[in-house]
Amino acid sequence: MSLMTIEQVDKFYPQKVGSPVQILHSVSFTINEGEVLGVVGESGSGKSTLGKLLTKIESYQHGSIHFKGQPIDTLSKKELKNFRRQVQMIFQDPDSSLNPRMKVHDIILEGVRGFGIQVGDEDAFVQERLNEVGLSSQFKDRYPSELSGGQKQRVGIARALAVEPEFLVADEPISALDVSVQAQVLNLIRKLQREKALTYLFIGHDLNVVRYISDRIIVMYNGSILEIAESEELFSNPKHPYTKRLMDSSPVQHPKDRRVNEVSVDRPDYGAVKSYQQISDSHLVAVH
Ligand code: ADP
Ligand code: MG
Repeated sequence: MSLMTIEQVDKFYPQKVGSPVQILHSVSFTINEGEVLGVVGESGSGKSTLGKLLTKIESYQHGSIHFKGQPIDTLSKKELKNFRRQVQMIFQDPDSSLNPRMKVHDIILEGVRGFGIQVGDEDAFVQERLNEVGLSSQFKDRYPSELSGGQKQRVGIARALAVEPEFLVADEPISALDVSVQAQVLNLIRKLQREKALTYLFIGHDLNVVRYISDRIIVMYNGSILEIAESEELFSNPKHPYTKRLMDSSPVQHPKDRRVNEVSVDRPDYGAVKSYQQISDSHLVAVH
């Protein structure tokens, strides 16, 4: 069953001078309940903007986004509160997403308190949330500055999960971390998805990472979707020339040699998408 439906969404950002610039071009796809939908594309292709629209951090100008059958731009106050609880974000930079003046205990309870969720014994609840993300309960009295990058990201994940969301947008959740802990945090994110049957939009720049975690993958270029397919299908049978180039620039690597640089592809301009060709049930390719 589909959890989210995105139909022909356009997003414009105002400019300091001149007319607004279009960032997303007629973006359409669905997110199925319980799936991990990956998003790849080079820097500036609109991945983060897309994540911000789905979490209602940013608004869009044309088209529609439905969550559980309801348009997200006309929610009542109560529905909006519910939406904000059910849809959570794991941020790229755990430094700027954790309040430096709050102890881990209070950070984890931030959302729970904000939404007025009853958790019973707060200490026991925090302990459970910490253990779930692989941290011992002694972390509860620490401030973010006393944590490593990986530990901060684990706290960020614990905070997001504390309100029992159904859908999470993870925007490059491991790319700010030390290479040595990237795999651990990625495995944690995947394990929690399976255990809790969560739905993810997983934005990444490392194709191997996105392939590892995703059921399906969206390939973005310049604010348009060029190709959507099941992960293995996309890798074994990429249809769009851009996807092929992305893959050529990102050979399968041993995790310990993995590049942390953003994928950058030397490519021709593919221009606007005219239509889409349906290759199979789950494989869609842009036609220019
Ligand atoms: P990605 O995450 O794929 O790197 P982004 O969604 O961050 O791409 O950015 C897509 C484009 O939108 C970029 O050209 C970026 O400069 C522009 N952009 C992002 N945020 C804003 C903003 N708040 N105001 C104006 N332009 C923005
Ligand atoms: Mg981004």
